[in-house]
Amino acid sequence: MVKEFNNGLIVLEKTKTKLNNTIQLLTNSTIFQPFNNLTVLIIGVFHGDEPQGKYLIEKYLSQKIYPQKEGNNNLIFIPCLNPDGMQNNIRTNANSVDLNRNFPTKNWGQDGSDAGENPKDYYGGKAPASEIETQFVIDIIGKYKPKIILTLHAPYKIVNYDGPAHDIAQKISEIISYPVEPSIGYPTPGSFGTYCGVERNIPTITLELDEKIPVENLVQPVFETFDILKNYN
Ligand SMILES: [Zn+2]
Repeated sequence: MVKEFNNGLIVLEKTKTKLNNTIQLLTNSTIFQPFNNLTVLIIGVFHGDEPQGKYLIEKYLSQKIYPQKEGNNNLIFIPCLNPDGMQNNIRTNANSVDLNRNFPTKNWGQDGSDAGENPKDYYGGKAPASEIETQFVIDIIGKYKPKIILTLHAPYKIVNYDGPAHDIAQKISEIISYPVEPSIGYPTPGSFGTYCGVERNIPTITLELDEKIPVENLVQPVFETFDILKNYN
């Protein structure tokens, strides 16, 4: 691994988007050993109009750099998966694709138009995994083989999960006081949860944060959630 640092953090992987923004996979340990430990992947900003994840992950990383002697850090982070969407304050990426409908699942491309008021906000792309952002995540899952995945969304105030993640979801629910919901309530063809949780049996949590309160108020429960995952086994 070629080590590259960003404010003391190791940049494990990176790529460029259509609008020339950078997506990074970071860790906050100097001795991250992705193949030997229980790796937890945490992803923010699947949807560009849900910026809370980037703020929370970057704040966590700025406060919790683990020196080498502590070791055994198993968290890896993509603070912002959709910087192009965030730049434009839209749900989709620069190709108008909903990244959470672009994963190569068995149900990719099926009708998900009940999902919301604007069906075009849920466009799954011209092909499964057609998008740079989707490919970046798929490559990371193949390479780092996370045992647990957490994605940060808004605004539904629920702990949604796919795959064998009920117990983890329950713990997070107790921390953040949102109910556990095994289904989001509408069809999500090509979703990340289906790709990882349903089809690959990786415990996958979709944490839907409250967007109506100041993001600072989410720091305590979300940091506690990250710390629970750090120590989970
Ligand atoms: Zn979302």
